[in-house]
Amino acid sequence: MTAMTLPALPEESFQRVLCVVAHPDDMEYGTSSAVARWTARGIEVGYLLLTRGEAGMPNPPEETARLRVAEQRAACAAVGVEHLTVLEHPDGVLVYGLDLRRDICHEIRRFKPDVVLGTAYDVETPYGFDQADHRAAGLATLDAIRDAGNQWVFPEEDHEPHDVRWYLVPGMPGSGATHGVDVTGEPLRRGVASLEAHGEYLAALPQHPAPADFIPQFAAMSGKAMGVEHAVLFRAYDLQAPPEFGTGDEG
Ligand SMILES: [Zn+2]
Repeated sequence: MTAMTLPALPEESFQRVLCVVAHPDDMEYGTSSAVARWTARGIEVGYLLLTRGEAGMPNPPEETARLRVAEQRAACAAVGVEHLTVLEHPDGVLVYGLDLRRDICHEIRRFKPDVVLGTAYDVETPYGFDQADHRAAGLATLDAIRDAGNQWVFPEEDHEPHDVRWYLVPGMPGSGATHGVDVTGEPLRRGVASLEAHGEYLAALPQHPAPADFIPQFAAMSGKAMGVEHAVLFRAYDLQAPPEFGTGDEG
């Protein structure tokens, strides 16, 4: 079935995309190239970071938090993202629970996205065991999407309930991706620049490959799945599609 190529995401229907991740830099390992394409097309993109990434460097945590949030701001600027919210859940020991769901639900109701982009919540991934914060963030994001649409869940919120149309999770070639975003050219360049914006953080990881080397390599692998030079892949779920097993009578 190698001749099959993945379809493009229906991004012409996207107006607002909220990206929810655990840490500064989580968006910059490929996904931000898709964000660069979207913002260039006038789509509003907001980032919600659940932690400040203070456990990610040998420096004292408060110093690291300030540095990493500043680097994230620069990373956002590289791909045209103006809405950055950074919460102060504890890095490294992020806990799935109602606190996390409430905070994500609050941001969904405030930002009113038609697309929420979260992280996967699988234990095993094609690149090894995933980090605990990523799993907690991913599962809480999935649940918060449903919470946001229910007026009886977190009713103390000062915003109206909000229904999200699309739920996206980054995908890998050959690992459940359903759609792709063509990032050939300028979006890919800006995506590379967004990871380079985490300069001091990356400098503290001496074995880390240069963003300008590995981001295009990975995007080229993903591009093959879509039949373009460079791509970012996603698993996409239309949350308002009728259930496949039903008659389609219920919304
Ligand atoms: Zn992370």
